[in-house]
Amino acid sequence: MSETIEQLRKEFQYDKTKQCVQCGYCLPVCPTYLSMGKETHSPRGRINLVKMVGEGKITDLSVLEEPLDLCLGCRACETACPTGVEYGTILESARAALVKRKKFSLPVRLVRNTMLKKVFPSRGMMNFTGNSYWLYEKTGLQKIMRKTGAMKKLPFHLGEFEATMSSGVSPKKRSQFETFVKAKGKRKYTIAFFTGCIMDAMFRKINELSVQLLAEAGCDVYVVKKQTCCGALHAHAGEMDDSKNLAKQNIAAFEDIEADYVVNNAGGCGAMLNEYGHLLKDDSEWAEKAEIFSSKSKDISQILVACGGFRSLKPRENERVTYQRSCHMTNVQKVTKEPVQLLNSIPGIELVEMKDANMCCGSAGIYNIVNYDESIKILDEKMKHMKATKATVIITTNPGCLIQMKLGIERENLSSTVKALHLIEYLAEAVGISN
Ligand code: SF4
Ligand code: SF4
Repeated sequence: MSETIEQLRKEFQYDKTKQCVQCGYCLPVCPTYLSMGKETHSPRGRINLVKMVGEGKITDLSVLEEPLDLCLGCRACETACPTGVEYGTILESARAALVKRKKFSLPVRLVRNTMLKKVFPSRGMMNFTGNSYWLYEKTGLQKIMRKTGAMKKLPFHLGEFEATMSSGVSPKKRSQFETFVKAKGKRKYTIAFFTGCIMDAMFRKINELSVQLLAEAGCDVYVVKKQTCCGALHAHAGEMDDSKNLAKQNIAAFEDIEADYVVNNAGGCGAMLNEYGHLLKDDSEWAEKAEIFSSKSKDISQILVACGGFRSLKPRENERVTYQRSCHMTNVQKVTKEPVQLLNSIPGIELVEMKDANMCCGSAGIYNIVNYDESIKILDEKMKHMKATKATVIITTNPGCLIQMKLGIERENLSSTVKALHLIEYLAEAVGISN
């Protein structure tokens, strides 16, 4: 056996593919298999492709690119799999192995390097992004861009996504984000809050509301300044070294606070924080610290429920609500009950589950930007089920899902009757907190 095959087997996690017994139980839960109808675009097919690389049956690795690029990484297949195939590990390893061998064109290399290495990990750059968006709104440039139709000419359908964005916060307010907020009443937990990169740049208001809600529920909350991006986007893009470096930076940053929990409000980031232990398991210096960090990482809904929820919540007037689950919260963090529990605690709402509520909405990090057509097909199916619930509010627990739901509302011309909100926004309103 040649050394090359050994190397490929190691990099592509060939041994893990042998756990797949090709039963196909994962097929009905895979959005890309359902929408594209090809075996190569199913979990079983993708695993088989990787296996064939390890067996020397595929030597042209470019054959794997499209099937793997078009995987959402939603990991519904992992939840459905009866033999416990670690699909997420296989996918990320295979993507990293492909990226290592791929010769990107100069513009693509520049964009990847700038975004992944300079923008997302930099708090300064993310604040600059958030401030620039606020200026773009306040100076009237946004109105001009929308009125003249210039937005429609932007590449990657960015104009459509821009139309879904909530208003930003001013640079002054941004700089005033408290680094410590004391618990109301008797302290139940000490929390270190994870702000995220895109979440903090574009959804700062939700972060501020999260901190206030945690304090209201009885938590001392610290916002650690030295924290950085969770590294999920890097892992999905096959840049595992970058992802590991960011994980180490975060572990070191949060070590300064003796918190009971590290709390986040974004399903995708939370899944990554939960997997630091797995990500750094072979690093003798960091493995134990990473495991401890991951064991403390919780979604905000878990902590709010653990605190006992909220005593007095303003009732809604017979509001029909549906909850679009975040795949990474469901399939990786396994957090499913708490958001529902919190929603059900609000008087006057009727929570209606949509068909295939666990199915991905097609957002998946930046999948909806780079694979727009495929993502829209998945979104349109989701909106069909959403409309059948006759809900007027769609609740999400992840920024990507929130944007995607807003896009779905626009596409269906439902903006006058339906709104999409993060769970935190909806809860804050019920508790009577605003910012
Ligand atoms: S991660 Fe999601 S899209 Fe990818 S193979 Fe699994 S179920 Fe399908
Ligand atoms: S990944 Fe799991 S569910 Fe899918 S075919 Fe393989 S063994 Fe069956």
